[in-house]
Amino acid sequence: MTQFATYADLLNAITDENGRDILNPATGEVVGRAPENTVEDLNAAVETARAAQKDFAKLSDEERCALLTKAAAAIDANAEALVELLSREQGKPLNGPNARFEVGACSGWLNATASFEHPNYTAVDDDITATVNYRPLGVVGAIGPWNWPMMITIWQIAPALRMGNAVVVKPSEYTPLSVLGLLKVVNSVLPEGVLQVVSGAGEVGAALTTHEGVDKIMFTGSTATGKKIVEASAANLTRLTLELGGNDAGIVLDDADPKEIAGDLFWGAFINTGQTCAAMKRVYVPESLYDAVCEALIEVAKASPMGVGLEEENVLGPLQNKQQFDIVDKLVTAAKDSGARVLLGGDPDYDAPGYFYPTTLVADIDPDNALVVEEQFGPALPIIKYTGLDWAIEQANKLDVGLGSSVWSSNRERALEVAAQLEAGTTWINSHGAVDPRVPFGGIKSSGYGVEFGTEGLKGLAYPQIING
Ligand code: NAD
Repeated sequence: MTQFATYADLLNAITDENGRDILNPATGEVVGRAPENTVEDLNAAVETARAAQKDFAKLSDEERCALLTKAAAAIDANAEALVELLSREQGKPLNGPNARFEVGACSGWLNATASFEHPNYTAVDDDITATVNYRPLGVVGAIGPWNWPMMITIWQIAPALRMGNAVVVKPSEYTPLSVLGLLKVVNSVLPEGVLQVVSGAGEVGAALTTHEGVDKIMFTGSTATGKKIVEASAANLTRLTLELGGNDAGIVLDDADPKEIAGDLFWGAFINTGQTCAAMKRVYVPESLYDAVCEALIEVAKASPMGVGLEEENVLGPLQNKQQFDIVDKLVTAAKDSGARVLLGGDPDYDAPGYFYPTTLVADIDPDNALVVEEQFGPALPIIKYTGLDWAIEQANKLDVGLGSSVWSSNRERALEVAAQLEAGTTWINSHGAVDPRVPFGGIKSSGYGVEFGTEGLKGLAYPQIING
């Protein structure tokens, strides 16, 4: 196992002097230089992965689980160096549900994935003996986004490796160093060649999706790119798991206690400064509780400092890139222009360094306003007033995405009744966005298809060969 004494040592091991400058989104300073790999590099990586996979597939399930556990230990041993790299490149603070939380989740997910029951089984009675053996697909391509770059990479590679596949990872061009650093550490315990990484822009990702040496693509990113990948998959009938965009609704019921739910409601929306696929991106609040919920949210927001990631007191950070800053800015401006009431924020300092957008709460907003119906993916929450619960449920379901949703109530039975009417891959009760390695996670409608995590997730990285007789 490699142990990097400092963050600088880790950075040295991955930086490419001839590569592209990667800037800290909080300060504009150069973090390091990332290699700009080409489609030729990708072809070589797939070839190496294909060759290495043959022996890897011959290992027993116990041996591969032991490798995942070792990889988790390697991450733990290098945790603070990885945390610093992630915070500098992605922008997220060290504390709160941010960099330390993300690196901790990486080792946690590897350990959990090694502990799941293997999906193989035998159906036997007087008439039949059929064994279902889940066998590796071959080479898996893993394409990821910039919001949780390390954790999502682990979500993709852990089940793939457990099931005996080799993997070629294509990180987001916005956060390649985080993934390169993570995989440098993980690779120090894996057999050579099994886990490849190719750092490049969208065209490298596109080449991975049409490569005939790739058997499956695990993709997490936008719905627009997901649709392109579906088209590309036709060439070789490549299997896909697609975790795409969302616009999750939360519905507060009239029996909720505003003060009690405020903290979880806030973090359900503002986790990772709102740059989270399954964050609550719009919340519907009954007229009777409207002012109390707004006030309680303002109070939590004011107590949650935003700033440069490496400063220990911060729990909210910048947007990761200018493009995302502009999206949030445009949507909040549209809300303001429509006459919606800004309770907090909405006034970025365009001259200050970094892509900081202040924590923004918007009330009295039209339910069809762009800030409500488009994915903001940033720290700006629209709070929509309702009088009839059926109307709120209809609003929650009306968009073409369905990743998560939530119901907030002090009466579990009532919350469950509402949950049963919501169209989403996950519906949380009195929380939003918490995922667990044992529990399947995935979206419906334009939020994608296939599920990750747990034994269900393992099945997605294998094919069932039935031995009948
Ligand atoms: P994106 O789609 O722009 O990029 C994702 C990845 O796809 C990057 O690595 C990019 O280089 C690559 N890519 C670009 N064009 C490609 C192509 N034609 N073929 C193959 N790969 C290509 O997404 P993003 O902006 O990085 O991420 C933000 C989006 O991701 C948001 O919509 C968010 O909701 C979604 N997201 C979803 C989940 C989930 O689990 N459902 C998790 C995180 C983020």
